[in-house]
Parts: sequence; C-alpha cells; structure tokens
Amino acid sequence: MKRYAVFGHPVLHSLSPKIHQAFAKQSGIAMDYLAIECAPGDFPGTLSSFARSGGDGGNVTLPHKQRAAELCNLLSARAKRAGAVNTLIKHGTGWLGDNTDGAGLVRDLTGRHGLDLRGRRTLMLGAGGAARGVAPALLDAGIGDLFVVNRDPQKADALADLLGEPERVHSRYFDDIETLGEFELIINATSATRHGSLPTLPMSLVGPRTAAVDLSYGEAAIPFLAWARAAGAREAIDGLGMLIEQAAESFFLWHGVRPDTDPVYAELQARHAALVTGD
Ligand code: NDP
Repeated sequence: MKRYAVFGHPVLHSLSPKIHQAFAKQSGIAMDYLAIECAPGDFPGTLSSFARSGGDGGNVTLPHKQRAAELCNLLSARAKRAGAVNTLIKHGTGWLGDNTDGAGLVRDLTGRHGLDLRGRRTLMLGAGGAARGVAPALLDAGIGDLFVVNRDPQKADALADLLGEPERVHSRYFDDIETLGEFELIINATSATRHGSLPTLPMSLVGPRTAAVDLSYGEAAIPFLAWARAAGAREAIDGLGMLIEQAAESFFLWHGVRPDTDPVYAELQARHAALVTGD
C-alpha cells in the first residue's frame, strides 16, 4: 500500500488525511495518509526517515513550507517562484517539491465561486508561506495591481521583490492602509486570528464589487469575513475550498487522477458550519 503523510506543527487538527482518504476511496486507490507532528528542529530528520521507510509522498503545512523547499533535491517552477513547498513527490531517494496552494486557490475562486479575477485591483494581507504560494498564481490568473501589506514590512518587500513585477506589485505599510483606496479582491493570508486578533482594517478598502477571501477556514476565518460583510463586500469566501482544491492538485500529481472535489467540499462545509454554529 502506498504511504503519504502531512507534516506540520501543529498538525493533528489537519483535515488533509480525511480529504485524501475521501479522494482515494472515490478513485479506488489503496493508500495510507497520516498526520505527522514535528517541531521545526525535527522536520528534516523526520522527513528523511519517512523517505527511508518507504514513504511515497507528502504534504507540508505551517511552519515547514520554506524549509521543505530547501530540503528537496528538485523543485517545480511554481515551488521555486514561491520559495515554499506544500507537496512532496518521491524522486529517487529524495523529494521533488511542488506548490499547489496557488492553483488550489485560483481553481476554487474561478471554478466553485465563479469569480473572474482578471484586472482586479488586489490587496494581500500577509507575506508568509501562504501568501508566497498564492501570489504568483493570482498574477498568472490576470489580476490587476497587487498591493502587499505585512506586519513585518521587510517580508512584504521581500515578497514583492521575489515576484519580480515592479510595475504591478507594490509593498505598503500597514500604517498606511487607510490611504490605499478600494480593492476588488482582498486576500487575508495572515494567521492573525490563530494567535491574537485581526489588525484593524478600514471599511474604505471594500467597494460593491469586492470579493474578500480568507485563506483560513472555520472559526479562524470568522473575524475577517464578518468585517468584509459589514463593509459591504459582494463575496466573503473562506479557505476551505482552497484547502480541498490544493489537495486535489497534490492527489493528481501523485496518482494521475483528478478527484471530484464537490462532494468532499459539501461534506466538510456542512461539518464546519455545524461546528461553528455549535449544531
Ligand atoms: P506563516 O506563518 O508563514 O505566515 C503568517 C502570516 O501572518 C505572516 O504574514 C505574519 O506576519 C502574519 N501575522 C501573524 N500574526 C499576525 C498578527 N497578529 N497581525 C498581523 N499579521 C499577522 O503562515 P502561512 O502563510 O502558512 O498561513 C497563513 C494562513 O493561511 C493560516 O491561517 C493558514 O491556515 C492559512 N492557509 C490556508 C491554506 C488553505 O489551503 N486554505 C493553505 C495555507 C495556509 P509577520 O510576517 O509580520 O509575522
């Protein structure tokens, strides 16, 4: 039986095992998929012992995505561009690293939610691993100017530099956010609500055409999506669909089969809505 795992810290709450097992059942593929908890210092050793013991592939989540890119012996073009890896594919005795986060987000927004991203003036809150993964795919999908705002402004500058499109990508200070005007797409790629609270955001960022997207889901997404709705955003979308679509893209890379994501999305969305409302 083929063996896969997701590596993270913390990771035991991860929905990835459930999602991949649902895809495997649907596709008639026998596979094992575990969640492997490891602190940053243990990640390289854990990953190489997984490879030695016959592991066939993996996913990588917070906080290991950038370290994973350093540990792979080969990187896809999109992993190189993101400087972060979320998908590991067995490559000889080591790993080929890819990044499916951006493709997953774009597929969810354009396919499931029917958004036309072309030309949208876009604000990215955050410049961590997730922002690095999704920004190149959003640019490729044809968004207009991209403004990156991060608590640590050096990381916003570094992301803007990495993207290599100075005419189109601009980094700005959080303190200047009131002056940035209205956006047609606002992505919350911060983990602010996991450790503290969302920074104060002015309602002037939102106009009647704005789609507001939080990459997190469940309770962590509530503050940003509530702010967006109160400010009058046309769409307020959480990251559950992206999570499922990036997993489907990994599944395709491992098995050559594209799973039907709709039933998995429907089931997890119902479960999460029940958890959030306490039903
Ligand atoms: P990282 O740890 O790499 O980055 C965290 C980001 O959040 C940084 O930009 C950090 O700013 C910012 N941040 C953290 N706390 C605060 C705060 N209190 N105020 C303002 N900014 C803050 O995490 P990831 O980029 O990997 O993940 C970000 C979010 O995206 C997480 O909630 C994660 O669950 C979600 N995600 C969802 C996915 C999906 O498939 N739906 C896939 C990947 C991620 P600074 O640099 O200043 O520290």
